[in-house]
Amino acid sequence: MADVFDDAIKRLYTLGQQADIPDNVLAHLSRPVAVLCSSLHVRMDDGSSQYFQAYRCQYSYLLGPCKGGIRFHPNVSQAEVQALGLWMTIKCAVIGLPLGGGKGGVVVDPKQLSKLELERLSRAYMRANVDVIGPDRDIPAPDVYTNARIMGWMCDEYEIITRKKQPAVITGKPIELGGSLGREEATGRGAFLCTEFLREKMSATASGLTVAVQGFGNAGYHVARLLGEAGYKVVAISDSKGAIYAPEGLDVESVWQQKQATTKLQAVYCQGSVCEIVEHKNISHEELLALDVDILIPAALENSITMVNAADIRARWIVEVANGPISSEADQLLHKKGIVIVPDVLANAGGVTVSYFEWVQNKAGYPWTLEEVRQRLKDRMQQAFNEIWDYHKASAGKESGVESEVSLRSAAYAKALHGIKNVIDVRGTKAYFSREES
Ligand code: NAD
Repeated sequence: MADVFDDAIKRLYTLGQQADIPDNVLAHLSRPVAVLCSSLHVRMDDGSSQYFQAYRCQYSYLLGPCKGGIRFHPNVSQAEVQALGLWMTIKCAVIGLPLGGGKGGVVVDPKQLSKLELERLSRAYMRANVDVIGPDRDIPAPDVYTNARIMGWMCDEYEIITRKKQPAVITGKPIELGGSLGREEATGRGAFLCTEFLREKMSATASGLTVAVQGFGNAGYHVARLLGEAGYKVVAISDSKGAIYAPEGLDVESVWQQKQATTKLQAVYCQGSVCEIVEHKNISHEELLALDVDILIPAALENSITMVNAADIRARWIVEVANGPISSEADQLLHKKGIVIVPDVLANAGGVTVSYFEWVQNKAGYPWTLEEVRQRLKDRMQQAFNEIWDYHKASAGKESGVESEVSLRSAAYAKALHGIKNVIDVRGTKAYFSREES
């Protein structure tokens, strides 16, 4: 299979050409502006040295300073941060944020590090990237296996080096260091809102809908919690170590509390209150994805659904909380099967939207209330969802000669790419510069 960046570029061209985006725009977006590769030296607790490969990708600052999370994971690669940087570029344009796209990562299994080693690694990342990061240049945030505390260490390191208080350099920080209320839940809340908007369009009732969630970290937990609170029936949840299934529905909060206490999801099978509340069984990762549910929520990593398992998917709707959980080929197959997919560049955009709010609050030095943050998030998500939905409906019958609407992903890319094209156009294109003066 093509690497994740090649696949992301293939999708960019397919969807861009479908939306009549000129080649100069697609060419501009098919490479990052810069990628800084570094080797982080970390002193381990036993006195030894270890070196960790790290990346910061500044994909595009056409629309504003680069914005994107930092991932700590053994599978991080340059191709992955570039793909994630491209998707951040599209996502910011989908929501209409004055931000470009970026992403960072470190090749590490953070679960093998002590707390002190993790702190040293986080600070080393900021030291290595300090010359390219900044409140008006490139603003990181949390991603897989990084969190508010890690953002706090990185922010602190940046401020020590620059000798200035600069909370706007990083988002997803602890509230005490200038973080925004509502940022922690924002990705999950944005995905929850998208699910609700879709449900309303489909005239369905929440209480009749079953949900399976793959990945039970920050984003997966909050979307599962909010759906459960709204009456949806969350029947399956997985994390990297395993999956659980209960047709009568899981108590999301209990599963979360058990996971916190025991650090792995499978531990809920035989201890704690969940076992007493519902009957449930262990299933495999593959079985969770293939469950006959109304809504499947991939909230883990890229390429969970590829041509290997796309034919097994039985969900009616998929809400992509993870970035890039469906390969471009599998995406087309699922669309042809009639599965409605709310794409990552919309469904998980709640995180970057509240990160943007955090940045605005830091720059203004004026924090907002939780209600303000939630209301503004809802307004932004509703507007983007409606625009994308309307485009999708208005395009009925135009896609590949097949009698169907374009997918919500095609519609989201069309919206984003037209916005980016307008910015490229006003800077001057070949058509402008080669025009004869009259
Ligand atoms: P996280 O580190 O908090 O959680 C990741 C979860 O995925 C963990 O529970 C882990 O056990 C699970 N996981 C890993 N491999 C798995 C597998 N093979 N099967 C099932 N579960 C597996 O990370 P997160 O911040 O929740 O991010 C999850 C996804 O959401 C990523 O794709 C990330 O890029 C995307 N995302 C996150 C944010 C954010 O604000 N955190 C914003 C936008 C998008």
